[in-house]
Amino acid sequence: MSKCDVAIIGAGPYGLSASAHLRTLKGLDVQTFGEAMSFWSRNMPIGMFLRSGWAASHIADPNQSLTLDAYRESSSDYFSSPVPLERFIEYGLWYQRQTVPGLDQRKIIRIEHDAMGFQRFPEEGEAVLARHVVIAVGIGSFAWRPPEFAILPNSLATHTSVHREFRQFAGKQVIVIGSGQSALESAALLHEDGAEVEIIARSSQIRWLGGVVSRAIHSGLGPRISKLLYAPTDVGPAVISQVVARPDMVRRFPRPIQNWLRSRSIRPAGARWLIERLRNVPIRLGRTITSAVPAGGRIGVRLDNGNVKTVDHVLLATGYKVDVSTFEFFSPKLAQSIRTFHGYPRLTDGFETSVPRLHILGAPAVWSFGPLMQFVVGTHYSSRSLLRYMGGKAAADRIRVDDQLVAELG
Ligand SMILES: Cc1cc2nc3c(=O)[nH]c(=O)nc-3n(C[C@H](O)[C@H](O)[C@H](O)COP(=O)(O)OP(=O)(O)OC[C@H]3O[C@@H](n4cnc5c(N)ncnc54)[C@H](O)[C@@H]3O)c2cc1C
Repeated sequence: MSKCDVAIIGAGPYGLSASAHLRTLKGLDVQTFGEAMSFWSRNMPIGMFLRSGWAASHIADPNQSLTLDAYRESSSDYFSSPVPLERFIEYGLWYQRQTVPGLDQRKIIRIEHDAMGFQRFPEEGEAVLARHVVIAVGIGSFAWRPPEFAILPNSLATHTSVHREFRQFAGKQVIVIGSGQSALESAALLHEDGAEVEIIARSSQIRWLGGVVSRAIHSGLGPRISKLLYAPTDVGPAVISQVVARPDMVRRFPRPIQNWLRSRSIRPAGARWLIERLRNVPIRLGRTITSAVPAGGRIGVRLDNGNVKTVDHVLLATGYKVDVSTFEFFSPKLAQSIRTFHGYPRLTDGFETSVPRLHILGAPAVWSFGPLMQFVVGTHYSSRSLLRYMGGKAAADRIRVDDQLVAELG
């Protein structure tokens, strides 16, 4: 069995950034596992653009030098905002090569916990013992499929995260469910790939980011006022943006205020540059699908107004529901030991769960640290917070792996 002080599981923006920061702590043995940027390269559609703006899409690094600007300068292809998905994946891989060259691309299939540390089992090879484990595996395993579609085969209904491209739907009738960025952009891509697509959404309106008020503030009131109202983190509407940019402050608000800030900041919304691309796509608002059944190789759906439609496929842009107890790599005992609220772990300083020395970063941290954690820009806060925690004097004594235990466990 090999050992390390800190094991980071996940090599997306959060895991890579955490790893880059912790490596600055002298003598700390950090190992990072996972396929770099795999959620972005396997579960998002070719042709997608980032919804977050340029300033909010840098992955945090300790010297603030591995920015999108630095990557663009080093690359032969010019790009700007909105950032194309493929350029962002390349940026993440460039960042990984410089900060985590020894990345272990293996998947971790089991994590067990005892008094002295965590044993992690990669899909192949020997177990690894670590005193601290940092989980940064993203939201991929939380893709939400509404119950009406639970038993339907993937040939009839799929979650958006299944698709890398939509060319197979050319000439087919497709319903897209949802009104967020993923629904709207998938519908645009389907339409451009030759599908006959319709969007059905529960909400009564589509919210377009950067609306009249926001644009008036940005252009009419000048950059200084705009900066006062909007933080560069680019999450949330005017004023709220400034509050949620400060997770330390958000944590201290009473729970109902935290919940309100979250719901105001991460409501379904679409980037304004999609409006033109969706001009010829019908959007049916204020409707839900109450049932869905196979219909001779197609799928029949009933809407809440009683209307029935039969199409070739339903694309579920229904988002993600965090529940960390469902991580399949947790032993059942470990999963039960983590204190949660509606599936979200209750985290303290250093993103530590109620299981000492087990940390969780990224979207599951939204309940404890606010909406920033759902976006790449949250790495600026989470990595620094983790670094502070691990670098703390008291922590320095705690994080060393117990050599005797390693010897005993063989
Ligand atoms: C369609 C879509 C568009 C988005 N657009 C934006 C945007 O424009 N801007 C923005 O800020 N955010 C966007 N997001 C949110 C985005 O997913 C997160 O900001 C970001 O991916 C969070 O990074 P992460 O490191 O937590 O997770 P991920 O990027 O999902 O990385 C998780 C990593 O964990 C690894 N992993 C998983 N399981 C294991 C295991 N068992 N063992 C080892 N490794 C494992 C994976 O290989 C991967 O490397 C978007 C999300 C979606 C679905």
